[in-house]
Amino acid sequence: MEAAATTTASVHSGWPYGTLSVRRTAEPRGEVVALVPIPVGVANRPQLQVVQAASAPDFWKLAPGSKGALSATLEALGGEPPSDFDDATEGFIERVYNGSPTLQPRPRSLADSVGAAAACLRQVKESGGSLLVLTGAGMSVSSGVPVFRGSDGSMSADFLRFLGDYNAARKRAGMSEADDWFSFSVPQMFQKITEKEAWAYWRWRTLRALVEPAEDYRTLNALVEFFGVEKTFVVSSNCDMLHERSGIPKDRVHEIHGSLGRLQCSAPCCDTLYPADEEFLERLEAEPEWVPRCPACADACLRPNVMIFGDGALVNTALQEQRGNLKRFQAGVGAGAESEKNWAVLEVGAGVVVSSIRSKAEMLAAEGAGLIRVNPSEQECVDMELSGVGVEEKYHPLVARSNEALAALGAELNL
Ligand SMILES: [Zn+2]
Repeated sequence: MEAAATTTASVHSGWPYGTLSVRRTAEPRGEVVALVPIPVGVANRPQLQVVQAASAPDFWKLAPGSKGALSATLEALGGEPPSDFDDATEGFIERVYNGSPTLQPRPRSLADSVGAAAACLRQVKESGGSLLVLTGAGMSVSSGVPVFRGSDGSMSADFLRFLGDYNAARKRAGMSEADDWFSFSVPQMFQKITEKEAWAYWRWRTLRALVEPAEDYRTLNALVEFFGVEKTFVVSSNCDMLHERSGIPKDRVHEIHGSLGRLQCSAPCCDTLYPADEEFLERLEAEPEWVPRCPACADACLRPNVMIFGDGALVNTALQEQRGNLKRFQAGVGAGAESEKNWAVLEVGAGVVVSSIRSKAEMLAAEGAGLIRVNPSEQECVDMELSGVGVEEKYHPLVARSNEALAALGAELNL
């Protein structure tokens, strides 16, 4: 018997909370093929199993066992509770899917959605509000900073080469091997036995980040000027310093994972931070085997002042200062018409593997006037990291790369 006749799928009532998203697979991050709006509260986050029928690959039958939850959902939508479960359900979804304004088969195109996002920004700006910009790795892609993992968490060939060399060194020392990024990028990588291999990786990351900020940074900065730099703050998970290099003042940037522009003792023997200056960068490039030594203890190697996994060794004085700047900025933003804080949140290129930027954006947006999320993945635009924070009414996903989305926003606002 052919097992491929049906595909198991599921309906999740996660983000956006007022919808059921019908997905092609049973995974919560499976491809979304339809969004069915449902009133919040009534649906109570049911997890409904649906089965894709081989005879009708574009719509969906609900599997037995989901009837109670689905009936309530259909009633709430104004539909008839199904008498014949499978047929009625299928018919209902078909009716809604074909032509109802309340169903969005896909997140809308950039051209369709940029207007509302720009209107949100304009409204906040014109009422004296502020802009919080949150960026992830996607923001630096067009500038040429390599992304070393995909959205599914898979690692690039470059990364696997560093991991292989690192594990070879550990093996020679009779130590266990690191499986992945999470067990590789850890403070222990800088111990003497593997410091050369650790620095091969950080040398690559440091030198590859020495790029000129691309056009999307300039477009973003035009948006910052639209609000006024005193009304803007940038939070980034990137360590490449491109916001600063593109002209955002130092005291307006919080790099939550640290910066490749600073070095610290890997022990650490003290809290001193050293700039990754011209002299350092030149030597790093010229001597591929060089491991920078801590000038204070002359024993441990230096390491970038960048947060790694399980990082109990990070010197966090610079981060604390930036956090303080952000807090003061937040405290200075007044209340808006309908929101607690009159700010709009613009999130650009933040991934789901390490989702700190996405979560932070959602939390800040919940307090403010809107969340504009720029991400080329439909799925990552639809998904939310947090549940129940209440941003669904003011959410503007832009399914596009940073350069396209920011250019479209800039054009819409006549920047
Ligand atoms: Zn030291």
